Amino acid sequence: MDSLKEYYKSLGVDEKVYNFSKKIEEGLSDRFQKFDQIAEFNQLKVLKAMQTHKIAEAHLSGTTGYGYNDIGREAIEAVYADVFHTEDALVRPQITCGTHALGLALSANLRPGDEILAISGKPYDTLEEVIGIRPSKGSLAEYGITYAQVDLLSDGSFDYEGIKKAANEHTKLIHIQRSKGYATRPTLSVDQIGQAIAFVKKLNPNWIVMVDNCYGEFVETKEPSDVGADMVVGSLIKNPGGGLAPIGGYICGKHDLIEQCAYRLTTPGLGKEVGATLGVNRQFIQGLFMAPTVVNAALKGAVFAANLYENLGFKVVPDGREERHDIIQAVELKDPKKLIAFCEGIQKASPVDSYVTPEPWDMPGYDSDVIMAAGTFVSGASIELSADGPMKEPYAVYFQGGLTYPHAKYGIVMSLQRMVEKGLLEI
Ligand SMILES: *Cc1c(COP(=O)(O)O)cnc(C)c1O
Repeated sequence: MDSLKEYYKSLGVDEKVYNFSKKIEEGLSDRFQKFDQIAEFNQLKVLKAMQTHKIAEAHLSGTTGYGYNDIGREAIEAVYADVFHTEDALVRPQITCGTHALGLALSANLRPGDEILAISGKPYDTLEEVIGIRPSKGSLAEYGITYAQVDLLSDGSFDYEGIKKAANEHTKLIHIQRSKGYATRPTLSVDQIGQAIAFVKKLNPNWIVMVDNCYGEFVETKEPSDVGADMVVGSLIKNPGGGLAPIGGYICGKHDLIEQCAYRLTTPGLGKEVGATLGVNRQFIQGLFMAPTVVNAALKGAVFAANLYENLGFKVVPDGREERHDIIQAVELKDPKKLIAFCEGIQKASPVDSYVTPEPWDMPGYDSDVIMAAGTFVSGASIELSADGPMKEPYAVYFQGGLTYPHAKYGIVMSLQRMVEKGLLEI
């Protein structure tokens, strides 16, 4: 008797769904082995940095008040700088999210009259208001910082001619976004980013290259900072927080740029010297330690889902065989009922809030209703298994995360189960 199958059945999965999923998974062992090799490499990279900086129990507790002499905070920043191979790092709970980290890196290093040149197309939605692409109070545009954009070519590669044309004497900072986020373009590989950086540095070595690294950390053995980025920026409730960091963002990069970021986060003069960690140091450092294998779990879940749904005839982005450069998976379900069922399945499989039913709602900032599924330990953490999709054509669900592969797999199996039991799909 297949006792695992019995267990799945006890969790509401039909035998047919189980057998189909099992067959898909059996075809993925080579793929999974490659992910395991990347995780092993990155685990060693993180461990080596922790040993180099002699992480000790004393680093794991935190400070209150001003937070002077927070040795844990200083050690964590040194470890981050080491992992990303940069001169310096700012890793703080006072950085509230990824958008904040990106906004901080921009506002700290730009001055009136400077221009941002985005060379991988329109930045992530929330940055539109930071930059002022969509008029917004307090945007960089209000401070006289301008913005120019060069879209990627239709094959997803950089438009080098376009970049040359768009650059001018005001250009100060080059923005590159590694992950596609929720756009339809392909995600950029670190090598591709490296080629683009080499190109722009040849045009002007003084330009600052900033890479939005969200969802990309530890997916490859290299990071954009290994191929010339001056700043890499991301959120701790995504990949590098390993599911344990309850808040936070990071900026790793050149010393003078990070110094500017610290002066902007706190104040000129205070910089990195203040900022109590209130007890999060242990979660930050343990989360970073866990991150390579957590990202590995999320990648396996994404590839399992891609192959499962591709096999059922759906368009999946990236497809089942493509190389991975971030942890996001999209499935075009082409049917509002299937989109809802998918999200219900993910929710039902969650460790937290498994009993609630997600429903589409009119979320601020979106032009259609959106459905979201997330039963996470850290509110909104998208390194944990989560799914969402706008209720409009092509009814695509975007999902990401999974702290463990068995959980990611179970969530995806449940998404299929839900469609089957609602009569939306036959297998
Ligand atoms: C998530 C994300 C952000 C913003 O991070 P938040 O933590 O949601 O503010 C920015 N850029 C990309 C590519 C992202 O995926």
